[in-house]
Amino acid sequence: MNLKDPSLFRQAALVGETWIEADPKNAIEVNNPATGEIIGHVPKLGAAETKAAIETAARVQKEWAARTAKERSAVLRRWFELMIENKDDLGRILTSEQGKPLAEATGEIVYGASFIEWFAEEARRIYGDLVPGHQKDKRILVMKQPIGVVAAITPWNFPNAMITRKAGPAFAAGCAMVLKPAAQTPFSAIAIAVLAERAGMPKGLFSVITGSAREIGAEMTSNPTVRKLTFTGSTEVGAELYRQSAATIKKLGLELGGNAPFIVFDDADLDAAVEGALIAKFRNNGQTCVCANRIYVQEGVYDAFSRKLAAAVGKLTTGNGMEDGVILGPLIDQPALAKVEEHVADALAKGARVIEGGRRHALGGTFYEATVLADVTQEMAVAREETFGPVAPLFRFRDESDVIQQANDTEFGLASYFYAKDLARVFRVAEALEYGMVGVNTGLISTAEAPFGGVKLSGLGREGSRYGLEEFTEIKYVCLGGI
Ligand code: ADP
Repeated sequence: MNLKDPSLFRQAALVGETWIEADPKNAIEVNNPATGEIIGHVPKLGAAETKAAIETAARVQKEWAARTAKERSAVLRRWFELMIENKDDLGRILTSEQGKPLAEATGEIVYGASFIEWFAEEARRIYGDLVPGHQKDKRILVMKQPIGVVAAITPWNFPNAMITRKAGPAFAAGCAMVLKPAAQTPFSAIAIAVLAERAGMPKGLFSVITGSAREIGAEMTSNPTVRKLTFTGSTEVGAELYRQSAATIKKLGLELGGNAPFIVFDDADLDAAVEGALIAKFRNNGQTCVCANRIYVQEGVYDAFSRKLAAAVGKLTTGNGMEDGVILGPLIDQPALAKVEEHVADALAKGARVIEGGRRHALGGTFYEATVLADVTQEMAVAREETFGPVAPLFRFRDESDVIQQANDTEFGLASYFYAKDLARVFRVAEALEYGMVGVNTGLISTAEAPFGGVKLSGLGREGSRYGLEEFTEIKYVCLGGI
């Protein structure tokens, strides 16, 4: 890989204070999804290494928590700066293992780093409370303390930002973290661990364990020293980790699947709605948990919106993310491609029409054409399951109550979007949508300052913002008597 600083690409895991190099005879291969080439190997580790990392984390966490908030903040600030200074290299590593276009990958590094910056700032504002007492001689003190050792499991779709959104608040609060990154994208995680060391983070505070998800996950969930598990991934795996964590009563942060509705009302600015739909649907080639999965368009503007969207989607260039001008990369792997094909075939068999794309891309591999489907209905698989690919299905609706019923008719509740101008309608619909997040007249809602998270099967807890920091603290009530 052509990097300015080749030492950022490290084929090793970080277990406590020790780097373990990959032995190609017993290692996990990492592929470039655009070319199928092997880009490197990481060690195949398991329960023993995870346990060792947790033990080291517990020891180092005490020293970290004892520092002043300002000292912790300074380390995080330096880490943030190093990510920005190395954003081109981090972007190249990310594109090589994940596939998203280089500009988008570099954008993710800047976005991911923003969580470290934000929580470096928030680290100094973890305030407690002094509550009026219930008796004359008593005072009630509420302290916020770090929860302790945190285990994190992250997905491949944002190999940098899904880590920083957890690590930023964890370290700011005074916690330690043992991370298992996704097997498809470990090098982005390892690169930021290299930078954490350079930023002066104490050795052993942050471990990155690569290897068997099942074994590492089982140790993380059963080990009583781990006080919180933070996970981003599928609802299925999230539910399994929830079950596994029951015996040790861990705190859980779960960012799970979504099935985002994107609603275009008659009074919407259609050009703005098309632009928003492109971002909400096609960012990361449709592989984000906040991607619009169902696009509902009101009868009066259905034809006009479909035409405009199909024309805009037709202009999106698909290809290897390392090449200039590419907007959409490959899908992550063959199962992802198979799911997209199944959803399109199911929709067509039940009466939908292709108005753009609709097939595997001529480039082969895991490339799929940017696609728009019209006449989609609630009976089709795309209405119920996340497609996680570049397919925009257009549903038709009559009125507000009709679309709210359809939009909420899902077990998920992460992101939702709608375009409308009428102020009363904006409030009514924002309040009626059963989702953790609502984008009004925008397709892009994620930012370090805002609470990200879902309801229903989309998860527990919030990440980012001051609320996200509270998830890594415990409340301690101190009753002061004899005053
Ligand atoms: P995705 O569909 O995004 O790949 P997954 O839920 O399968 O979602 O994966 C998210 C993360 O969870 C990855 O790091 C993956 O390795 C990990 N994972 C998958 N299965 C398990 C498991 N049984 N225990 C612990 N971690 C798991």
